[in-house]
Amino acid sequence: METSTIKRFKAAASRMTEDRILHAGHVLEVRPWDGGTITEIDLHLPTVDMHTWQAVPYIKFKVANFTYRDYTPFGWDAETSTCSLLIDTGHNGPGSLWARKLQANEKVQYLKIDSTRQIPHATDLVVGLGDSTSLAHLLALQQLTLPISRFAGAAFLPDRTQKKLFGEYFRSPLQILSNLGEVEEWVAEQGYCIEHSHFYLTGHEGLVTKLRQRLKTIGHQQIRVKGFWS
Ligand SMILES: Cc1cc2nc3c(=O)[nH]c(=O)nc-3n(C[C@H](O)[C@H](O)[C@H](O)COP(=O)(O)OP(=O)(O)OC[C@H]3O[C@@H](n4cnc5c(N)ncnc54)[C@H](O)[C@@H]3O)c2cc1C
Repeated sequence: METSTIKRFKAAASRMTEDRILHAGHVLEVRPWDGGTITEIDLHLPTVDMHTWQAVPYIKFKVANFTYRDYTPFGWDAETSTCSLLIDTGHNGPGSLWARKLQANEKVQYLKIDSTRQIPHATDLVVGLGDSTSLAHLLALQQLTLPISRFAGAAFLPDRTQKKLFGEYFRSPLQILSNLGEVEEWVAEQGYCIEHSHFYLTGHEGLVTKLRQRLKTIGHQQIRVKGFWS
């Protein structure tokens, strides 16, 4: 057999194995936000029991051949097994390209749903901080924090239109600011109680490292960090 034929055979066999271990869902609706860099996607994941979600989850989607990216479901309804994603699509990468091309009724495949281990504290103030890739994570953290009055936080979106759209689309105490500097300033100004505030940081690796340092200089120690991308 020619080398290329062997390669093709191996690729086909791997694809068949991969398809057997993947789970499937369907796209209900896709809404690219004006301004162009955020895409909102509604999904139906019929085999998922969302009643069990106590920590912010993430879903490892197949975004291209043998290529996977993690995205955060939020706004889930366990009765109908539906949820949404908010994906930053303003750069070129397999995940971004996948999200931009998705259409209603299309099938999506995912390898697993796992926990980020970010569980909101049961009684203290929960403060979420992040960037444009963290919006879904922050909204999921908000969904898990009861009552909502215990939840606060901030994220930044450089685009002015998208900042405005976030306020129109979601009922959330999250402050949407313009850059990391503004988030640092905002959190310092809040004067959150050292003993009864818990921080949850997500987004770009450099950003979460910087924010953690900043919080520590103010005196905060109760900080959970999950870097999303670098
Ligand atoms: C637990 C978890 C949950 C996540 N949830 C979300 C989510 O809800 N929404 C979301 O958008 N992302 C989320 N991410 C990030 C996501 O998994 C991908 O890392 C991200 O979408 C980039 O993948 P990509 O294939 O598009 O680009 P990659 O191939 O990873 O990167 C291509 C290039 O683009 C740059 N790049 C990557 N992302 C960005 C960006 N946002 N802005 C500018 N440049 C970038 C990279 O530095 C690189 O140079 C999550 C990550 C984790 C670990």
